[in-house]
Amino acid sequence: MTDRYCVFGNPISHSKSPVIHAAFAEQTGEAIDYSAIEAPLDDFAGAWHRFMAEGGRGANVTVPFKEQAFALCDTLSDRALRAGAVNTLVVGADQDSTHGDTTDGVGLVRDLFHHDVVLKGRRILVLGAGGAVRGVLEPLLAAGPASVLVVNRTAAKAAALAADFQDLGTIQGGGFEAATGQFDLVVNGTSASLAGELPPLPETLFAPGATAYDMMYGAEPTVFLRWASGLGAMPVDGLGMLVEQAAESFLLWRGKRPLTESVKYGLRLDLQTK
Ligand code: NDP
Repeated sequence: MTDRYCVFGNPISHSKSPVIHAAFAEQTGEAIDYSAIEAPLDDFAGAWHRFMAEGGRGANVTVPFKEQAFALCDTLSDRALRAGAVNTLVVGADQDSTHGDTTDGVGLVRDLFHHDVVLKGRRILVLGAGGAVRGVLEPLLAAGPASVLVVNRTAAKAAALAADFQDLGTIQGGGFEAATGQFDLVVNGTSASLAGELPPLPETLFAPGATAYDMMYGAEPTVFLRWASGLGAMPVDGLGMLVEQAAESFLLWRGKRPLTESVKYGLRLDLQTK
């Protein structure tokens, strides 16, 4: 029987994960069936256990279920424990236990690597202090930057987040007004772009040769990326992060790492022609 996987979310019809995993399966010769399932908002655990009982082997988890997925796991990776959230579920060999992991952070770092963005010794500014930012701080700090500053609309959340990751490197947190000086990489992990809004930031933010990364993506550049490129920074959107986190999940399930560039290219073409 073909091994079954899926992505859980609510809503989920917009998800690109089935297309991405179908491309990975074709490329690696793995016979998998990957679908999108809209789980009920109040019963994620029920939806997951039904999927398992029907022979499901693993799943991706997206908004708003990453914390509920974390809570039901029997075992967790260290990075999922740090993040307090799970975007990948893996069924144990006993077909009865659930292992949870998070691949969002590795996805971001791998995409930055593909864009030749150097992290070691660099000054990084991260905007936002929600689930996505919590998930990326460990791999960002592991890459050895000179410093990471996390700023958020609700300053206390950024300060608390920085305190949680203090043992992994030089990291501080505060409100947007704390974003002074220049940075080599600015990562927008807020959902402000969804509303077409720009966080209040000084125009002197970008060091020469800086990269501006928005975790969001779309057919058009986000307001943050338009603003940043106007100030001389290299703009990169979150489409690559989406594909890279999927590749990392595929590796966890199938033991094979798919190549990602052609899949990113296909998705980009698709976005631009719709
Ligand atoms: P959360 O809801 O957990 O956090 C939202 C964050 O955005 C908070 O820090 C919030 O600040 C801030 N925010 C919201 N609106 C504004 C605004 N108008 N101005 C300034 N700050 C604002 O969301 P997630 O962390 O899960 O997701 C954040 C973004 O990352 C989304 O756009 C999501 O699509 C994207 N993402 C992309 C991925 C990819 O693979 N490319 C993977 C995961 C996420 P406050 O705390 O003050 O409310």
